[in-house]
Amino acid sequence: MTRRVVVVGAGAAGLIAAGRAAELGAEVLLLEKMEEAGKKILVSGKSRCNVTNTAPLETFLSYFGRNGLFLRNAFHRFFREELLDLLERFGVETQAERGGRIFPTSGNAQDVRDALLRYAEQHGATVRYLTEVRKVVTRADRVKGVSLWNGELVPADAVILATGGVSWPATGSTGDGYVIAQELGHTLQPLHPGLVPLTVVERATAKALQGLSLRNVQCTFLTRDTRERERPLRIPYPMPDTGEMLFTHFGVSGPLILTASIAVVKAIRDGKVVILSIDLKPGMGEREVESRLQREFEEHPHQQVSTLLRGWVPSTLADVLARLSGIEEERHVHRIRAEERTTIAALIKDFRWTISGSLPLAAGMVTGGGVALDEVDPVKFESKKVSGLYLVGEVLDLAADTGGFNLQAAFSTGYLAGEDASGSG
Ligand SMILES: Cc1cc2nc3c(=O)[nH]c(=O)nc-3n(C[C@H](O)[C@H](O)[C@H](O)COP(=O)(O)OP(=O)(O)OC[C@H]3O[C@@H](n4cnc5c(N)ncnc54)[C@H](O)[C@@H]3O)c2cc1C
Repeated sequence: MTRRVVVVGAGAAGLIAAGRAAELGAEVLLLEKMEEAGKKILVSGKSRCNVTNTAPLETFLSYFGRNGLFLRNAFHRFFREELLDLLERFGVETQAERGGRIFPTSGNAQDVRDALLRYAEQHGATVRYLTEVRKVVTRADRVKGVSLWNGELVPADAVILATGGVSWPATGSTGDGYVIAQELGHTLQPLHPGLVPLTVVERATAKALQGLSLRNVQCTFLTRDTRERERPLRIPYPMPDTGEMLFTHFGVSGPLILTASIAVVKAIRDGKVVILSIDLKPGMGEREVESRLQREFEEHPHQQVSTLLRGWVPSTLADVLARLSGIEEERHVHRIRAEERTTIAALIKDFRWTISGSLPLAAGMVTGGGVALDEVDPVKFESKKVSGLYLVGEVLDLAADTGGFNLQAAFSTGYLAGEDASGSG
């Protein structure tokens, strides 16, 4: 008998789940509360959609931290090559770029969304938009269907919950799946923002630097204990040695900061004090910085210190560094004492900020936390609590760095759940 599969949410995970279940012969109904499918796909990768990454499997898994283990089996069965083949079959060529990030060659996220929609519809899946699921209906711990906010009951033999996280709610992901899963007895690991800008204690300084983007800097995060001892914050995946960061009116953002943010937010939640140390000249040692400063001071004794520092860093930062060194802007270089020069060199190599927190969940690119992984079968993605219920994508307690890792997780879990839910996997 043909299985009736209802997929809740037409995002990355839901579209591919619907496509796979329909391809294998199930009668598939995809319910989406927004007016179109895949709104988050459309904004992903700055609207270019970084679908996956060339990183080897083990490195790929490490980007999810400890929870990456949960994905190992799935990635052995449906990973990058299978995803790229599928996209190609539906007309999307892809190419790898810096950092192994894979994008559609067209540079247009809409091509990915449209290809996945075609995959589902060409195999006979029906999509209903502006249709918001309220509950999954069960009897004796078995799925019977879903109920909508308008009261309608939609019967189903299997339900795939692909409602996403709570970040960027304007794309439709408002955390409905967490509520639905909890109502069915699932445990929710506490939600927290991932890939999110960080706020700092030194707000006035950040505001003075607002909009300034720094390239080729090194960002190190340290935790400080009650005895003022500092140690590097452990970030469970590879961080680039140098890269780009940005100052905002509330703190810091940009690729290096977002990459570290999952670990930073966790450390702050664990009650740790987190310090950001920015090395503005990672190619030079502190002594080298100091001796070059000394040479330049000798060569230009009548220059103001902030003017001289403009040869080192952008002008707004030069003014701030001079001020933080306790030197009045108009003071000439020949009047600067050796210990003041040492302070400037130390600031250039170790420009410190105390992290006070992060922007809220909605501002994160991904949601950390979610449905507890030990309650979901890592092969089929079926709930261990409710038979016929599948949990996929960001609704699960999975969050990784930027680079295409999150979408690959959504695609792999969605595809395999679709396969099992169809009854012929
Ligand atoms: C700005 C931004 C850029 C990003 N860029 C990248 C990138 O380049 N590469 C990468 O790997 N990751 C990226 N991510 C993360 C990635 O987009 C997500 O991890 C991924 O889209 C999650 O897929 P999903 O299918 O689980 O959820 P979503 O894509 O969020 O889809 C969930 C769908 O469910 C629908 N829905 C929710 N509740 C209901 C309901 N009750 N009834 C019916 N429908 C419902 C929503 O409307 C939505 O369409 C980015 C995220 C953001 C915010």
